[in-house]
Amino acid sequence: MINLISDTVTKPTPAMLAYMMKAEVGDDVFGEDPSVNQLQERMADMFGKEAALFCPSGTMTNQIAIKVNTQPIDEIICDVDSHVYQSETGGYAFNSGVAVSLIQGSNGKITAEQVQAAIKPGHDWQPVSSLVVIENTCNKGGGSYYTLDEVKSITSLCRSKGLRIHLDGARIFNALAETGESTADWGSLFDTVSVCMSKGLGAPVGSILAGDKETIRQARRFRKVMGGGMRQAGYLAAACSYALDHHVDRLKDDHSKARKIADILASLPYVKYLKPVDTNIIIFGLRDDISDLKFISVLKQKGILAAPFGGNTIRFVTHLDITDQMVAEVCTTLKDIEF
Ligand SMILES: *Cc1c(COP(=O)(O)O)cnc(C)c1O
Repeated sequence: MINLISDTVTKPTPAMLAYMMKAEVGDDVFGEDPSVNQLQERMADMFGKEAALFCPSGTMTNQIAIKVNTQPIDEIICDVDSHVYQSETGGYAFNSGVAVSLIQGSNGKITAEQVQAAIKPGHDWQPVSSLVVIENTCNKGGGSYYTLDEVKSITSLCRSKGLRIHLDGARIFNALAETGESTADWGSLFDTVSVCMSKGLGAPVGSILAGDKETIRQARRFRKVMGGGMRQAGYLAAACSYALDHHVDRLKDDHSKARKIADILASLPYVKYLKPVDTNIIIFGLRDDISDLKFISVLKQKGILAAPFGGNTIRFVTHLDITDQMVAEVCTTLKDIEF
């Protein structure tokens, strides 16, 4: 099976597993796991932050970020398609007691003008606009990414208005692979940064939240209250360190594979539209008379797994376990299907 459902489906490589087996570990709830500490320090340094925290998932790092950057009855501002709104079970309300103000962005990207218009003036009867969440790359936006200049206009607005800013950088390394911009420059613009190691980087588990010392001290408490304090987590942290050493530079390969598939899709009669393919995510709509579930089952019979993405939209994601040979097979199959 060729699995294009997500870049989370990768399995640890033999070399990654071997590296994990050798990890030095301790009890991380006591802060005594050397492999976790090393990963946290490395990520903090990379993003120019004082501290970082290893968590089980990107949902948890985002949820903790919302918690540490807001007070109950505040409001967060984000794109309507963002992961924090669409895919975290409404956790902003449950965990932080905050409301949400949604921006209709373009392929997941929002602008400073839109943020400006969304910030509430602060009457007693209104929630306080206190946090903006920027997602980069934008998952439901089709893997679109911001440049530093685009995001600076938003972050400087937030600074001038006293709002905090969180980067949901689940796939930030995919964005930086395209722009060539640095983790330190990106980190400097945000109060908190979340990065997933279990997406394109290919680690089995783990996300990092980076921020200043006091924020991360609080984040540790919220991780614990959510049940996210792990003991000998160093085996998992080691996989993440291995991914940083070996799987960052290769992300561009995933992007060129995605473009190859997209080039074929663009020419096919059953494809109604194709979102711009900027990184490793391909989102396309099917002709009105073809249902997504039908399409998915036809592909499955031909050995290809893909994700239905709402309406008659399909998502493919390229990743570490997709070879050139598989891309060629996918292209042939897509051309051969008839509807
Ligand atoms: C995957 C993802 C996350 C975190 O998801 P987990 O599955 O909880 O690790 C957060 N934001 C975006 C944009 C994502 O794609």
